Amino acid sequence: MEKSQEKGYCSKCNAQVSYHQVPIDHRAHLRTTLFTLGIWAPFWFLMSLSKNCVCDVCGENVSAY
Ligand SMILES: [Zn+2]
Repeated sequence: MEKSQEKGYCSKCNAQVSYHQVPIDHRAHLRTTLFTLGIWAPFWFLMSLSKNCVCDVCGENVSAY
């Protein structure tokens, strides 16, 4: 298995870049869930399953594959 420095494609840099994962802000999601009377909860759940990967160079979201 690879170490923490994984490579992914950044569409903004137009290159293979190293990326890092950004932890989910659960308190913000909790507030949104309460505000939408629970409608947001499934989205929150789905987002907690998928990692939020961000380019080390420009900070854009990276599709890791
Ligand atoms: Zn980038």
